[in-house]
Amino acid sequence: MMDTRILTVDQTAQAGEILRRGGLVAIPTETVYGLAASVFDERAVANIYTAKGRPSDNPLIVHLSDGKEMEKCCLDIPEEAWLLAKTFWPGPLSMVLTKRPEIPAIVSGGLDSVAVRVPAHPVARAVIAAAGVPLAAPSANLSGSPSPTKAEHVIHDLSGRIDAVIDGGPCQVGVESTVIDMRTKPFRLLRPGGVSKERLEAVLGEIEVDSAVSGSLTKEQAPASPGMKYRHYAPNAPVLAVCGPGEASARYISREIRENDGVICYSGQEMIFSKAKAVIGYGEETDDAALARNIFDVLRQMDLLSPERIFIQCPNDRALGFAVANRIKKAAGFHVISAPTEEIL
Ligand code: AMP
Ligand code: MG
Repeated sequence: MMDTRILTVDQTAQAGEILRRGGLVAIPTETVYGLAASVFDERAVANIYTAKGRPSDNPLIVHLSDGKEMEKCCLDIPEEAWLLAKTFWPGPLSMVLTKRPEIPAIVSGGLDSVAVRVPAHPVARAVIAAAGVPLAAPSANLSGSPSPTKAEHVIHDLSGRIDAVIDGGPCQVGVESTVIDMRTKPFRLLRPGGVSKERLEAVLGEIEVDSAVSGSLTKEQAPASPGMKYRHYAPNAPVLAVCGPGEASARYISREIRENDGVICYSGQEMIFSKAKAVIGYGEETDDAALARNIFDVLRQMDLLSPERIFIQCPNDRALGFAVANRIKKAAGFHVISAPTEEIL
């Protein structure tokens, strides 16, 4: 156990110093908090896996100070990658490209590819600048638990296991970056996230969605992104993702719930579920940005209330709703229910 320092957003120089010495610092980004280490320090990167309890074959995303730095980490960068960089960086998009040999294998879980992104959060940017090197940084949570969108989530999971956390308040986007593999054509979406598929397609034309995103990977298929095969975002209680229009999912859940269950619902609909042990709203049905911002926080809040089961109203796959629905379905182990849209008389 070590003493985990809590730094303010003005202490990015101290954070840079800790990172240069081979330490681990959790930093706020616009997506979720990341657990950073210098990308060239193999021992520090190994400590990320240990602190999180992360399987060593699940690669980390490398955070750069600007798009040009892609050349320090990647080979064979296609023109479209530069175009995406110009359009979406700094921002919540990670691109998978061919790895340069200088990037230690441990960063990319032994793969010959590497995921890179330029974060938009001013504190993350200041820390990268202060460290003077790209930073390998997965989400700063214990492996398998919901991603951290507040410093208190990081402290809950990792206090005593990391050198410091910078408290930058709640994250603005709230779900992780979109991951796109730029090494194959058509380009392939490995994880929906902060940049919507629609916005990517406006630049690239049609892209492919990896089958693991919808959970339809068979046992024999190797996942394109190793992270896909692990249980994720899961609270202690079993989660049931209920899809369909809000009206339909509300009707289904209100009929199914028992008094020891919890419900994560669209804001304004809480009253419908008064029978449940715990009810938490996470944004209006039409406000996908709010749903994204709040989903991980409400999963953690609900977990603390120890319900027997957790029902969640799950948005459709439009815009940021795609990322939110993906996280909910993963939390549910792809136990997904389509709520009937018509009352059966
Ligand atoms: P996290 O940093 O916790 O958000 O997780 C990073 C995600 O990006 C995981 O799902 C990884 O599997 C994925 N990822 C990172 N690097 C690569 C890569 N080189 N190829 C495919 N997926 C990657
Ligand atoms: Mg993660």
